Amino acid sequence: MISVKNVNKFFGEKQVLKDVNIEINEGEIFGIIGHSGAGKSTILRCMNGLEPYQEGSVKVDGKEVKDLNEKEMRELRKDLGMIFQHFSLLERKTVFENVALPLECFGYSKAEKEKRVMELLDLVGLKERRNDKPRNLSGGQKQRVAIARALALNPKVLLCDEATSALDPNTTKSILTLIEDINKKMGITVVVVTHQMEVIKQICGRIAIMENGQVLEVGETEEIFLKNTAGLRKLLGEENI
Ligand code: ATP
Ligand code: MG
Repeated sequence: MISVKNVNKFFGEKQVLKDVNIEINEGEIFGIIGHSGAGKSTILRCMNGLEPYQEGSVKVDGKEVKDLNEKEMRELRKDLGMIFQHFSLLERKTVFENVALPLECFGYSKAEKEKRVMELLDLVGLKERRNDKPRNLSGGQKQRVAIARALALNPKVLLCDEATSALDPNTTKSILTLIEDINKKMGITVVVVTHQMEVIKQICGRIAIMENGQVLEVGETEEIFLKNTAGLRKLLGEENI
């Protein structure tokens, strides 16, 4: 579904991705874990065309991201929903309006919008909060709204960049359960970027461990923990993880 091959990326002189190789299969929940500055967000942004890469290949559904024309780029963004640590909701708009935004960009009619948004709010358990503003919601509820918005255009992939890092442990669990449900019931491939070990342990089938722009290791989560691999020890041996 997503294939990253020998990617090198530079910000000016600084190389932030070094020969990165990651294969993400359709239908899996794939985790990317690493310390701050490892390059996790950058690799996600290369996948959805928000960040150019100088060398190597990033393919989504067989298509090279850097070769896409404007129309194909719109299709790519439609196929890849994304959620963030701080939710990125529009504070002046209601819950309903926030979820409806992507539908407006793609010209849905009023009736279609109403139907789709209510379906999505039902999915995330927030139907009765449709007229609230984000400021009246808890962190977990805000992330649910962001998830509903990310799913509005029926993406094939959900990219999660530190989506639970601002949440307490119980709320984190409930958001992860929701993401797992979305993966299982809707067949959406999920990429989870995190620095939290608990997150990958709870939902990721396979993971890549990143450090300093490099992928140290890729493998099944269970096996990496069972074998206590060199990459895992390196990750755990450092502070703040
Ligand atoms: P965190 O866990 O803190 O979110 P991360 O693994 O997501 O970290 P990135 O945000 O991908 O890390 O950053 C990787 C490196 O690239 C860092 O050294 C960062 O300072 C650098 N970087 C990121 N964005 C830019 C930019 N726009 N200009 C210059 N350097 C950047
Ligand atoms: Mg980041």
